[in-house]
Amino acid sequence: MITARAFAGKHYAVLGLARSGLATVNALLASGARVTAWDDNPQAQEKLFSRVGGSPDAARSAASGSGLGPCLRRETEWDLSEFDSIVVTPGLPLNRHPIAGRAKDAGVEIIGDIELFARARPELPPHKVVGITGTNGKSTTTALVHHILKTAGVPTEMGGNIGLPILAQDPLPAGGVYVLELSSYQIDLTQSLDCDVAVLLNITPDHLDRYESFEAYATSKMRLFEMQTPGHNMVVRVTEAHDFNIPGQGVVASFIEDVFDFKEMRPKEQREWPAMQGPHNLENASAAIEVCDILGLQVQQIRDGLRTYPGLPHRMERVAEKGGVLFVNDSKATNPTATAPALAAFPKIRWICGGQAKSDNLDECAPHFDHVRKAYTIGEAGEMFASLLSPHMAVAECVTLDEAVRAAASEAQAGDTVLLSPACASFDQFRDFEARGDAFRVLVGEL
Ligand code: ADP
Repeated sequence: MITARAFAGKHYAVLGLARSGLATVNALLASGARVTAWDDNPQAQEKLFSRVGGSPDAARSAASGSGLGPCLRRETEWDLSEFDSIVVTPGLPLNRHPIAGRAKDAGVEIIGDIELFARARPELPPHKVVGITGTNGKSTTTALVHHILKTAGVPTEMGGNIGLPILAQDPLPAGGVYVLELSSYQIDLTQSLDCDVAVLLNITPDHLDRYESFEAYATSKMRLFEMQTPGHNMVVRVTEAHDFNIPGQGVVASFIEDVFDFKEMRPKEQREWPAMQGPHNLENASAAIEVCDILGLQVQQIRDGLRTYPGLPHRMERVAEKGGVLFVNDSKATNPTATAPALAAFPKIRWICGGQAKSDNLDECAPHFDHVRKAYTIGEAGEMFASLLSPHMAVAECVTLDEAVRAAASEAQAGDTVLLSPACASFDQFRDFEARGDAFRVLVGEL
């Protein structure tokens, strides 16, 4: 766990007790801070106490959090003037949640766990931080950079949006590299993270329920660069650099499209990277190659990492082959831009799509519609997707994943690919994209 003397004696409020919230409470208490915490979900409250010890009842009656345990108190009852900082989960919609206005009135800052990590950095052994953001490809690139470094023998941890709270990781020895996947929500809650290398993979419209406009979403991601000190590096596509007028002053920029022009490596080597197929993954790999080069790795070390990278679950994951039919779980594709490369990657697709829609069109996917033999729509977006797609292909409205898998599998012929790449969020029918992908794997296993 990462702790810091800088937190000792301060009083923090922690709102949201899922993975990163729990890790935050643990790290703050272990640093000698007082913590008042809340989550509306009773299961999250129980989890807090099974982790840190004590009981919810005792904590509810405690006047305030002490170094020994957190105080559990409903957020609406908080006197914000008691707190030095309010630490919220990135999942909290700050644009709509009343805590934002209350904190402003009380003059108390709202931050996230990444900001706490930034404030703990001066007490850690000398290290580097790589921060990776973008609409799509963040997890893949984060895991790949981490894998290349690890394979090369560099001490490294990954954390952030990838689902591993950074404060729960052990501090690295001198020379270590922390690789952080950062969503725009996490960047919004961060003020002082000076990345040695900051990566912006791409920006396309997403999360527009949380931002006023596409420009506001893009501006949020740009802050990753604004926090860098001159002389530090950024890696970005020419497109975004041009559209958003980056880099800022003094930051050294590398362009993703140029990576192979200046290295011994060639794009055709992609054939030797089994988990990094498809044009989108060439971009992700280019970004990772550049990051590792900036960090001082040799070309051969980078090659070894790319060849041995095993990939992440739920991203174009080949889960089974049955009777010549391939079943691919791409549940992580939660918007049309993320689904497009999956449609491009296979020639004869039985496409399971739908869920909670993020847009009212599938325009990004349209160039690859000729790869689809039939679409099987599910979830809230099922009807809308069916009417968008039926002029272009055969469509079955299946409603549930269960029905879609059975229908697609029974109609598939040898050489077809049954692809779950929903182009939608999962929350209408599943806890998250992982639960949706796991359900797909189980359903395929039962065929
Ligand atoms: P993130 O963490 O940003 O959501 P992932 O690496 O988990 O991204 O990939 C999510 C999905 O996005 C994958 O299913 C993949 O098909 C698609 N994807 C990955 N990289 C890119 C990219 N560079 N451009 C467009 N789509 C991508």
